[in-house]
Amino acid sequence: MTVRFTVSTTTPAAPVGWMRVVVHDTVEELRAAAARYSPTADFHDAEACFQQPAWSAHADDDGYIDEPGPTYAGVMRLTADVGAGVVAHECTHAALGMLYRQHVLTIGLDSPERDEEALCYAVGDLMRGVTVGLLERGVWT
Ligand SMILES: [Zn+2]
Repeated sequence: MTVRFTVSTTTPAAPVGWMRVVVHDTVEELRAAAARYSPTADFHDAEACFQQPAWSAHADDDGYIDEPGPTYAGVMRLTADVGAGVVAHECTHAALGMLYRQHVLTIGLDSPERDEEALCYAVGDLMRGVTVGLLERGVWT
């Protein structure tokens, strides 16, 4: 069964924002939903993704919102198989989108200088390492 929930920022220093999280049953279902949301993008090898707000006429459980408003960050798509590193990677995309839309950061979306993917992979790798270390040592259960 597909799981859906929303997550909002809560720390005062963070940009005000919220996102939808959709945990798809299968990666095939995830890719199909991502393609419906962003028809021009390629998701054929995606295991997870974060999709910025689609200014779409649709409104459904896949993450479309008619009038998302300035604090809607978008939709994160996962399956139950992903780990902490992937979640951290996709959360970084979400946070960067909030910062750009609220003009805290000023380099345009998808600009090469921003190198968003490199940052997201670094955060994902670090989060995975810290999570594994905490779990292996019994700090987190
Ligand atoms: Zn990415």
